[in-house]
Amino acid sequence: MNSELQLAEVRLKSFLKLLLIASAFILFFHIFPHLTPGFLKNFAANGYAVLTQGSFLQGVCITLFLALAIGDIRRFSPLIRLFAWILVIAVVLTIIHWIRASPVAATLYGWPLLTYAVVLAILWILFRAAGKARYGLKYLSIQQFQTLEALAEVSIAGDSFTEKLQIKPVEVAWNVDHYLVSFKAKSKWVMKLVLTGMELYPLLSLHPLLSLMQPNERLNFLKRRFLSDIEFQTVPKWYKQYVQAAIRMSKQLCYMGYYSDARVYGSVGYVRFSNRKDVAERKQEFPENNSLADKLLVMNEPDVKAKEITADVVIVGSGAAASILANQLVQLGRKVLLVERGGHEQPATFNENEVDMVSRLYADGALQLSRDFRFQVFQGSCVGGSTVVNNAVCFKTPDYILDKWINEMGIGMDRTKYEQSMNEIYSLMHVAHTPIMTDEKYLNPGGKLFADAAAKLGYDKSQLDSVVANIKGCLGCGYCNIGCKYGKKLSMLDTILPQTQINFPGSLQIIAGCEVTSFNKRGNEIVSITGKFNNGRTISIKGNTFICSAGAISSSILLLKSNLGLANAGKRLAFNLGTQITAAYKQPVNSYDGLQISHFLKTEDRRYVMETWYNPPMFQSTAMPGWFEQHFHNMQQYANMACTGILVGTASNAEVKVAGLFGRDINYVPTEDDFDSLMDGLEKAAEIYLSSGAERVMPNTFEFYEYKTVEELKLNLRKNVKSSVDISTGTGHPQGGNVMSTSAKTGVVDENFKVFGYTNLFVCDASVFPTSLGVNPQVTVMSLAHYAAPLINKISGVQ
Ligand SMILES: Cc1cc2nc3c(=O)[nH]c(=O)nc-3n(C[C@H](O)[C@H](O)[C@H](O)COP(=O)(O)OP(=O)(O)OC[C@H]3O[C@@H](n4cnc5c(N)ncnc54)[C@H](O)[C@@H]3O)c2cc1C
Ligand code: SF4
Repeated sequence: MNSELQLAEVRLKSFLKLLLIASAFILFFHIFPHLTPGFLKNFAANGYAVLTQGSFLQGVCITLFLALAIGDIRRFSPLIRLFAWILVIAVVLTIIHWIRASPVAATLYGWPLLTYAVVLAILWILFRAAGKARYGLKYLSIQQFQTLEALAEVSIAGDSFTEKLQIKPVEVAWNVDHYLVSFKAKSKWVMKLVLTGMELYPLLSLHPLLSLMQPNERLNFLKRRFLSDIEFQTVPKWYKQYVQAAIRMSKQLCYMGYYSDARVYGSVGYVRFSNRKDVAERKQEFPENNSLADKLLVMNEPDVKAKEITADVVIVGSGAAASILANQLVQLGRKVLLVERGGHEQPATFNENEVDMVSRLYADGALQLSRDFRFQVFQGSCVGGSTVVNNAVCFKTPDYILDKWINEMGIGMDRTKYEQSMNEIYSLMHVAHTPIMTDEKYLNPGGKLFADAAAKLGYDKSQLDSVVANIKGCLGCGYCNIGCKYGKKLSMLDTILPQTQINFPGSLQIIAGCEVTSFNKRGNEIVSITGKFNNGRTISIKGNTFICSAGAISSSILLLKSNLGLANAGKRLAFNLGTQITAAYKQPVNSYDGLQISHFLKTEDRRYVMETWYNPPMFQSTAMPGWFEQHFHNMQQYANMACTGILVGTASNAEVKVAGLFGRDINYVPTEDDFDSLMDGLEKAAEIYLSSGAERVMPNTFEFYEYKTVEELKLNLRKNVKSSVDISTGTGHPQGGNVMSTSAKTGVVDENFKVFGYTNLFVCDASVFPTSLGVNPQVTVMSLAHYAAPLINKISGVQ
């Protein structure tokens, strides 16, 4: 932020001075008409009408206001903004009078209208430029910035206000502005919309603009609108939904700006990995970097000169499915081109800044919300797909799921071959309990508390264990969800993709930063895809075989956008529905200091899976229960907390369509059964934490609740959380939407992964799952891809 007055501010000040001189003269000439020179008589008369609109007092107030603003244009910048809004109102009222007036009287409004409009336009331009220059703004307008500052002032610490904040509200807003400009998501403009909406929203109930309210008044307004206002509970559901979503998003922006700032870490008891005492020791113990990512060759926009290129197999995406498909198809002699919308990021450049890493590895995949804004769907978006940001937890496809898919639903899959593929994936991905995991060293320490307590309740090793994963020699930094810098997590970016290029030179090409916008058909054959680079340039890619592996949701969207006439695309979408329980202990637990997901608990009835989980402060703040001061108080105890996610494999009752603000409308409300399972899991996990010595447990509910005893928990949890509307839910595991079936009536792809009705188009990723798994899906995605490769090659192979 600039302390000196900037050139743009000097310009604004000069303009205000000009206005002040004009208005002072106009008033002077009105008081002393006989002193008005002849050539200024018209100016004085018209100017008086415009300035005062008949009220001398108004003219004096405006003149005084201008004098005040010139004295300190920074301090009085809210007043200047207010002045601009008054001018907007003046323009609107004058237009209304003009329209209503008789033709003769209408001419009277011409001058005032022109004057207001010109002054407003100049003021607005200069004011915006001055604000941007003062704060060095890169993305937000000055108005949005000041709204955010006003929000940060009250929503991070609530009643505690700013004195307890480690950085000033203006610095929170500044952080957000700088993050947003570097954030690669296309849909981030919604944040601007939200902030403008939040600023204007109080006007609807005749309150001042949000940033002009006193902090106390602002806090109460937000609390009433969001938490307690009985009147507000009676407004139409859709209206309430939008308002609450806007408040939620703006609060999340404040948390993002605050808790990602390293100056705040000490106050919540967080030590980033590079500053932990035993880093050198850990690195010495596990020196091996298993990543081959620096060998991976990827083409970016400048490397792709031609407008049209031709390939053999064209695969959309580069995640779990796409990479395994590529690896297997090149072994079958095919030449493969992967087209990935996300960027090519080098693990060596990964850092500890959560916002930077979210921007680079998730982009729009961090901003996906369901239609009612209540359910968040996370997906990676970079070369390597979600495997770069995932927790690498591995579960084989459960037997009962294979029974359901193959025996009950009859999807036509060869079970023996599939199980062989699954075994091969386990060895290809080095899936194991690494020695370090069985030692329980560098696992999430909060996870260990949970696991020990659960073991005492009688769960055996088949139900309760540390996770198996495609991780080798983990250092326990706790950054899995923002990418592993140390070559321990064996993601597609680190292993399969570079290995394939090294072992089969010239057979695998990758284009990054290029979003595939359509499959282009001729009759029942796909002839090309259209790809669009981040700078807007488009290319056409021709090929023999096309495979859509853009992940659940995106693959359905792409098929729908391509007008392929598929009745079932986007339907039968399912998830592993997730929520969390947070436990607070008297003493520090330091859950952040270890593998992010370390233990699981899976019950015999298969209704839910629990996975212990913890994050660096910014991510954790978005899942931390409570609002305002309660949230702040909880974050102060960040180091004393542990957290567990509960996952429920849902019914396939969701649907995604090309519609809505983001062009991807996810319509999902959990069924009663799924909600019930989630609540059972939540209660059980809370009980385990309480038996482990936690002082209190907190579900991630909209209204804040905490339980200190098992009795209190059992008595109140169900009363407090009556439906999914009361609780925060999300997923990183979308599944289905292009389901596999032997009939075009119920599915999108057949048993060979071929899209019904097309000869050379296939889908292979999490979207083809006929149902949700209920356990983490990456092994099933990879195994399906391994199983699919020879089938796809057989049907489409060029002889
Ligand atoms: C935070 C997080 C944690 C997770 N943890 C685990 C875990 O521990 N264990 C587990 O089993 N699973 C986990 N998962 C889920 C797992 O990673 C996914 O199920 C799996 O990666 C899905 O594979 P996929 O090939 O279907 O899609 P992805 O791996 O998501 O790959 C799809 C790729 O397609 C790209 N793409 C999308 N649209 C387009 C387009 N139009 N043009 C070009 N490219 C496009 C995307 O950018 C992306 O890179 C996690 C997921 C997340 C987000
Ligand atoms: S905790 Fe995750 S990110 Fe950190 S070293 Fe282990 S695998 Fe890598």
